[in-house]
Amino acid sequence: MIPFCPECGAQGVPLLFGLPVPAARRAAENGDLALGGCVLREPAPNWQCAHGHQWRDLDENAWDRRLLAVLAAHGDDLS
Ligand SMILES: [Zn+2]
Repeated sequence: MIPFCPECGAQGVPLLFGLPVPAARRAAENGDLALGGCVLREPAPNWQCAHGHQWRDLDENAWDRRLLAVLAAHGDDLS
């Protein structure tokens, strides 16, 4: 399940920190993923909406599943 922004109610996309793989960069260009860069804040947010709001959702499984689905849709170059 994809969480919705607690501030504006928009649907979230997974927020990914660190150096993105090419599929993640393509996904981010399409708005299916947000890139947080290499500086990790604590507590780290893991979702972002189209308006740039960031928040943390404790359901890590939902985040994992959504991230894998997004990467698969944009060509997973890890395999
Ligand atoms: Zn929002």
